[in-house]
Amino acid sequence: MILGHEKCSFLHLPTPIDYMKNVSEDLGINLYLKRDDLTCLGVGGNKLRKLEYLLKDAKNKGATMLLTVGGAQTNHGRLTAAVATKHGMKAAIVAVDPYPGEISANLLLDGIMGCPVYLVKSDGSRPDSEVEAEAVKKVTEEWEAKGEKVYFIPTGGSNEIGMLGYYDCALELAGQIREMGLEDTRVVSTVGSFGTYMGLAVGQRLENLPFRLTGIGISPKDGGLKNYAAEYYQRIKAFYGLKEEMGPDDFDVTSDYDRGAYNNPVKEVREAIYYMGRREAIILDPCYTGKTFAGICEMVKEGKIRKGENVVMLHTGGLPGIYTKHHRVEFEKELEGYIHII
Ligand SMILES: *Cc1c(COP(=O)(O)O)cnc(C)c1O
Repeated sequence: MILGHEKCSFLHLPTPIDYMKNVSEDLGINLYLKRDDLTCLGVGGNKLRKLEYLLKDAKNKGATMLLTVGGAQTNHGRLTAAVATKHGMKAAIVAVDPYPGEISANLLLDGIMGCPVYLVKSDGSRPDSEVEAEAVKKVTEEWEAKGEKVYFIPTGGSNEIGMLGYYDCALELAGQIREMGLEDTRVVSTVGSFGTYMGLAVGQRLENLPFRLTGIGISPKDGGLKNYAAEYYQRIKAFYGLKEEMGPDDFDVTSDYDRGAYNNPVKEVREAIYYMGRREAIILDPCYTGKTFAGICEMVKEGKIRKGENVVMLHTGGLPGIYTKHHRVEFEKELEGYIHII
């Protein structure tokens, strides 16, 4: 139980921490991966830890259906579908996105698990958030008219309750770091909708855990990442009645490696993916983990991560992302030479 909240425990925890021997030797650091990509449902990923808490809350409220939002290729939507399926509930995803022209990657997995995806095209005249809210209302009404009780989960499951999954993970990491005898460790987390990073940051702070935390942003945010983190913390503080103050400078989050946009194809990110794949046989994704690892490599080059430092990168999953059309075509062009017809 964390901050007075219970969860539905459906994961096999702790997830392992693996040493990346070859990359560590190359970079002159000790790089470990915390394998949250190996969580058990729907191909795995970080959203499952949040969903352990969100599912419990949904069940407490008598819900029969989980409804969430994101891009058409949302990993979080896929994992929401997985959790609903496994626990006898319905799920649906609403995305303000055009039809990508094919049913691939996460969309394909959503369909396999029987989860409808509602795509809404924005005409650009209104903010996407408005278009999304309207679509959510419409889909909710449709399902409630059929007798379902809908529980809404915001983007990435990143609210006051979802972040508890990573508060848990901060405690889990601290235990593993102690057991492994890793001193002065830096944990690196990808920052998207912020729930993962915030759970780790708040857990680290409130429980006084023995690691430092760096967040690498994968998309720009108006007002900056530190301010966003501080606002999110205010919501958490009010929700749980916490005393601890945390302001923008308490959050080590950087937008230096976001490559300018969300989920964009970037050559340097693909190169980081090839590098990890060819040295460690670990597959990263082009939207989140590949960008983060490319950022770590740059931080080492810039001296922001010291030689010899212990670094634990959270592998948050996201594998289906490599099969998204706009990424796949780039991979295919670059990897053509690996196919030999003899
Ligand atoms: C959602 C997601 C993230 C980012 O987590 P947030 O809690 O949204 O910041 C990182 N990696 C993958 C693969 C994700 O799907």
